Amino acid sequence: MATNPPPQSFEVGSCWPRWDNNRSALLAWTEHAQSKRFLVKEQHSKYHIVLSCAVCSRSSSRAPYAVEIEFDGVDEAEKVVAISLKHNHRISALSPAEAAAQEKEITQRRADLFEYALNELKSIKRCGGPEKLKPSEREVGQDRVLEDVRRALGDESAEDLLKSATKQGFLVEVEAEMDSRAVSLGSAEVLQYSC
Ligand SMILES: [Zn+2]
Repeated sequence: MATNPPPQSFEVGSCWPRWDNNRSALLAWTEHAQSKRFLVKEQHSKYHIVLSCAVCSRSSSRAPYAVEIEFDGVDEAEKVVAISLKHNHRISALSPAEAAAQEKEITQRRADLFEYALNELKSIKRCGGPEKLKPSEREVGQDRVLEDVRRALGDESAEDLLKSATKQGFLVEVEAEMDSRAVSLGSAEVLQYSC
């Protein structure tokens, strides 16, 4: 029996975060491209993204080096639906300028994902995020963001995100603790969600 591939991997059926608008997939593909020494091309449509090798995608061959990720309306997830890991051309090394630009792009994409995640946590705390999570679901949504960032950026960045979010009051659990304390003191209605 087939098992599900791990999340955030370039295997058919693997799930990628939906909340980050393909940022982690694009970052991972760019890092993958760096390790394999090719340049990335991305093509988006509303529910579909194709990440490929820039040189392959210029050719008319039907099988470029590419991964396709699609929004699965059923599970509300982004899933890898197709992948091909074979170039249709000879591989030549990137020029020093291309390699430097790619390195810079990776750094920017990492910083961008971090900022986007921080904003998502803020949004979940305040209004439940784009998915309009119920108060009881907000901690789950928040944990998912933190876990997704841990996979995409590593443990250190996930800890930094947790620290930044805590410092700025973007975490749901802080609110929950304060609420439970207020409730235990007999306060009246303390849960106010004005979305
Ligand atoms: Zn290629």
